[in-house]
Amino acid sequence: MRKVGKGIRFYPETLNWMTDEERKEHKEKLLRENIRYMYDNSPEYYQLRFKECGAEPEDIKTIEDLRELPIFMDKDRERISMETSLEKYNHPFGLHVCCHPDEVVLTGGTSGTTGHPTYPYSVTMADHEWIDDAIGFMYSELWGLGPGDRSWFIFPLGVYATTVAMMGGLTKAGILQLPIDIRLGTQPSMDLAKWTKPTFMWTGPTIVQHYLKVWEREGVDPRDFNFKLLATTGEKGIDEPELKKYIEEALNCRWLDFWSPSQTNPCTTCDSDEYYGLHNFTDDWDIAFEDLVDPETKEPVEVKNGAVGEIVVTALRKKAAPYLKYATGDVVQVFTEECPGCGFKGYRGKVVGRSDDMLTVKGVNVFAGTLLETIRTEMGPKLTGHMRVIKESPSPRITQLKLWIEWAPGMKDNLDEMTQEIKALCKANHRVNPEIEWTEPETIKRYDRKTPVIEKRY
Ligand SMILES: [Zn+2]
Repeated sequence: MRKVGKGIRFYPETLNWMTDEERKEHKEKLLRENIRYMYDNSPEYYQLRFKECGAEPEDIKTIEDLRELPIFMDKDRERISMETSLEKYNHPFGLHVCCHPDEVVLTGGTSGTTGHPTYPYSVTMADHEWIDDAIGFMYSELWGLGPGDRSWFIFPLGVYATTVAMMGGLTKAGILQLPIDIRLGTQPSMDLAKWTKPTFMWTGPTIVQHYLKVWEREGVDPRDFNFKLLATTGEKGIDEPELKKYIEEALNCRWLDFWSPSQTNPCTTCDSDEYYGLHNFTDDWDIAFEDLVDPETKEPVEVKNGAVGEIVVTALRKKAAPYLKYATGDVVQVFTEECPGCGFKGYRGKVVGRSDDMLTVKGVNVFAGTLLETIRTEMGPKLTGHMRVIKESPSPRITQLKLWIEWAPGMKDNLDEMTQEIKALCKANHRVNPEIEWTEPETIKRYDRKTPVIEKRY
């Protein structure tokens, strides 16, 4: 397989010349400065949070001190902060916006599946420059792309912040953008590729699998595109060895993934056959993999190699609406040891799931979204792909996991066999034995945007 990039190293480059200790000291200097900035400029949010817990900004000198602070914000509190600023000050950036609202030059929203959308991707010109440079560095220095490359960028444009985060970096790296709104359907996107000859593909793992099926049906060999790489974001899948191998062989290129939820710690994978997680190459952008809490109790989790916890983000540089002790809801397994694949010395993380879809089944933590993704990937065309975890009470502690799954057209006679397959998959991958309620195709409600993973029956 064609080699991708030059190995993972830090951005900015100066971080690469520092020892681990020097890098920590450097980040702690930025931490003290940005905490002061956030405190001084957010009297109606961060100053109140400090007062509530009886701490002063000066108390936070090190990353260890930061871990002692309670959670200041999560998705719900962020939404309320934004609703309030809209009502009071006629802008959607929240009471935690620390610059003048007029200094926000770009914003991008979340899907708003659970209510009012939020705009966490808001940036000042300086934030914008920094992110574009970091993402540009990833394209050119870490992925080996540059002038002459053409990006087939297949996402819903405008709605998701992916668009906001990724486009500027493409330009910085001198790459031609070929954006196409996925909501136009498969054919316009396929036509665009036919006429513009992209050199790499940027999308989600589910879309790649859908495209592979379409190409197979139409007798097109995707190897003929001669892609240099496939980049994905927003979904898991790359951590499943068989799927990774299948897609890399089908496209004849390396599959890498990228992650930067709400523009926090931009990370990417390295060029290895095995998946070694998301490498946090932007080590001084924020504190993320270094501050973990238990997804249920929100108590601090010791950060050591292999630890699992929910990420709590604190911005070290961001100026627009920076996070300070923000519990992201993203649960990761963190690796502190050098990457066996590429020798990267920073933190790495594997996405485990979302804390808001975590259930505890007889003491075993199960992430509903992750579990459904396993079933969807492994069962493939036997199912329509539409399924939910059923919840019969608001408590996250349950004794029996129940799934609601649509069979694919023509599969009704195979339900007993498929039930056994799914039970075996769940047992092997998630240590649970679910009950399955089957339903015919097209009965589970479809959504245009993000689909809920839990069906509330209470
Ligand atoms: Zn690596």
